Amino acid sequence: MNAPSTLDSRLATVNRQIRAACERFDRDPGTVNLLAVSKTKPAAMIRAALEAGQRDFGENYLQEALGKIEGLRQDATWHFIGPIQSNKTRAIAENFSWVHTLASAKHGRRLNDARPHGAPRLKVLVQVNISDEASKAGIKPAETRDLIETLLGFERLEVRGLMAIPRIEATFDAQSAHFRRLAELRDILRGEFRSDLPDFGDLSMGMSGDLEAAIAEGSTWLRIGTAIFGPRD
Ligand SMILES: *Cc1c(COP(=O)(O)O)cnc(C)c1O
Repeated sequence: MNAPSTLDSRLATVNRQIRAACERFDRDPGTVNLLAVSKTKPAAMIRAALEAGQRDFGENYLQEALGKIEGLRQDATWHFIGPIQSNKTRAIAENFSWVHTLASAKHGRRLNDARPHGAPRLKVLVQVNISDEASKAGIKPAETRDLIETLLGFERLEVRGLMAIPRIEATFDAQSAHFRRLAELRDILRGEFRSDLPDFGDLSMGMSGDLEAAIAEGSTWLRIGTAIFGPRD
């Protein structure tokens, strides 16, 4: 028997960590999804993760992602988690199943118009600047309602929830406070859009350094890179 590779054992460790946190915080593990963030990592590593049972992969840079998607399209589900540029919306709409970083009606319209008709609707999450940082992408919490209202008119999109990259904090309690604000906003919006968006409710939050707090506060998509693939150069 071969010794498990570093990647296999890292992935297994992350999955164990997730299961333990689900138990501790009384979450159904079936509702906490692992998105393996493979930016800067080669296709061979994604292939190895696929063979170890990982299905969902997140990429930030379109050009880099297209090369990897080309060879692995059938087997993996691809999530775009990087900044959106208008001239990239067509390729994003054609090659990804999910977009986590939608923050404008203009990009929503462009993604909608470019989504191929044979494909399922593009699942989108609205990115919120939950820690109110000048440097961060995403819209203000108070702007989410109007944006979602507009997105309802784009029938090739399916609005599934919210995403945030909160300020990095050192303690569990400080991390939790940011995640809780996103969860509370989700609860309000879910109430308002209940009839139009019955599947609205996803929370894309939590990375390698704060996944436990994210699970405690209701994350449904953990975006984990380093803990699975190792440090990026
Ligand atoms: C790179 C990245 C991640 C993964 O971060 P790690 O700390 O490596 O787990 C998650 N989300 C986004 C948006 C990223 O760009």
